[in-house]
Amino acid sequence: MHLTMNSQVVALQDDSKQQLTNALKARKTLEDTYEAQFKILALFVSRLSLACKGVDIDLDNRLAKLRTELNRGTDLEKLLPFIEATSDNLKLLESRHQADIQRMQQGLADAGKMLQQQKGLPDQLRRDLRLLLGKVGQPSATVHAFLPHLTELAKLYQNVLQAKHQLADDSEDDVRYGHICRQISVELTNLLSELAFAEESAAEIDEIRLSLLGKLPIDALLEACLKTIGIIISSINRERQSAEHFLLKLNDALTSVQQSVVSSLSTSADLKQKMQVLNQQIEQQIEHLGHASQKATSLEQLKLLVSDKLTAITGSLREKEQLEQQERQQLLLTLGNMEQRLGELETDAGTFKKRIAEQNFRSLQDALTEIPNRAAFDERYQLEIKRWQRYKKPLCVVLADVDHFKSINDNYGHSAGDKTLKVIAKTLKLNLRETDFIARYGGEEFIMLFPETELAELEKPLNALREKIGKIPFKFKNVNVPITISFGATRYTEQDTNRSAFDRADEALYEAKKAGRDKVILKPAS
Ligand code: GH3
Ligand code: MG
Ligand code: MG
Repeated sequence: MHLTMNSQVVALQDDSKQQLTNALKARKTLEDTYEAQFKILALFVSRLSLACKGVDIDLDNRLAKLRTELNRGTDLEKLLPFIEATSDNLKLLESRHQADIQRMQQGLADAGKMLQQQKGLPDQLRRDLRLLLGKVGQPSATVHAFLPHLTELAKLYQNVLQAKHQLADDSEDDVRYGHICRQISVELTNLLSELAFAEESAAEIDEIRLSLLGKLPIDALLEACLKTIGIIISSINRERQSAEHFLLKLNDALTSVQQSVVSSLSTSADLKQKMQVLNQQIEQQIEHLGHASQKATSLEQLKLLVSDKLTAITGSLREKEQLEQQERQQLLLTLGNMEQRLGELETDAGTFKKRIAEQNFRSLQDALTEIPNRAAFDERYQLEIKRWQRYKKPLCVVLADVDHFKSINDNYGHSAGDKTLKVIAKTLKLNLRETDFIARYGGEEFIMLFPETELAELEKPLNALREKIGKIPFKFKNVNVPITISFGATRYTEQDTNRSAFDRADEALYEAKKAGRDKVILKPAS
């Protein structure tokens, strides 16, 4: 019994010893792990603090001290007050960082806007800049995020300066005014398509239009302007002559109607006078018959007297009837004349009205593609915006631009380019709904309006349109040339002006070009 108890105590002692050894081992492992983790953390903090170096001197000093302490393996507890102070320092820095972000954003935006105000920037650069300013306006968490924008802005500035430098170097007027010339020739082309000219000038206008497609030196551009002014003046003169001709005819007709009325009035006054005389005669004859019949002494005498007087009265009455008939005829003749003149006048007015209507139609139609032109678009856009303001039904604006169109002109000539534009315009027009609207906006750009259509609803039809254009079998000089088109679409919103919605569609189009062309980009208002 005693022995059993002893052996039990020994077993308990062994067990406790074992447990103690295990606990010591576990503690050692824990301490080792802790030490290893502390080292990793210390290394990480050291590296991190080195990465932050240069942001703030005070912080640099604190972090250097922290690094030293960590390397020394100083107790974490002793480090705590030091970490807290550094943390306050970091908070201060964070608010300074936010201010830096704002300053950076503002600075970039200001510099970009200043560049935007420069006159005569190339289209591409203006678009790049607009896109960049959009990116700069986005909120950002770090100053670093602005670095690519800064690099891009610096590049744009460099491009502008280089272009200016080149201009300053070259004394040639053509180069100096190259960009302005291009703008003027684009504007002149648009104007030509908006002006309604008589058929006689069509060939001359076509010649000017073609000359504007190439790179025009300033003197040739001035000549094109002068020729256009000449055509406008002769067209105005022709119109004036035709209006004058019409007015003269109107005047003639009115004069002759007036004369007819005057002469008919004087004839009828003359006839009236004659009629009065006749009436008096008849009255006198009757009166005379009365007196004479009282004086008659025999029936025979009375019979003779009455018969005489009746003959005279009948004569007078016949004469009166003749006069009345004459008056009626005169009146009919005058009326007939007047009717004829009025008929002529009506025909002239009809011709004149038709001319004006034709001219109105021509002034809203693009001569080459025979679809509405920019002026027609402006008119329709205003109308659709008014409708939108009233009924608030969705309205989408879409810009389309033929891809690499310049190369068609360069490789196969302008007339091939013209034919291509006609086919593309026709395809676009034929594949739109009747309530949609398409116009040639200028050059190889088309603009479309989709009333009562949500932006998302456009994805399918626009892509179908894009594919349709891509599949047209164009063939120049026996070579199959596939032609593609890019689309940029947006929806008109409460915040929009007609310009801002247009600009957004233009930005979407630009994105479609950047994304590789032959694309549809839908850009909702942000
Ligand atoms: P992108 O894909 O970037 O749109 O390239 P692109 O070559 O189409 O664009 P760019 O604006 O450089 O060139 C447009 C060309 O369209 C230049 C101009 O000669 C031509 N063009 C403009 N209007 C007419 C026209 O009425 N007839 C012809 N044949 N060409 C035209
Ligand atoms: Mg274009
Ligand atoms: Mg193009």
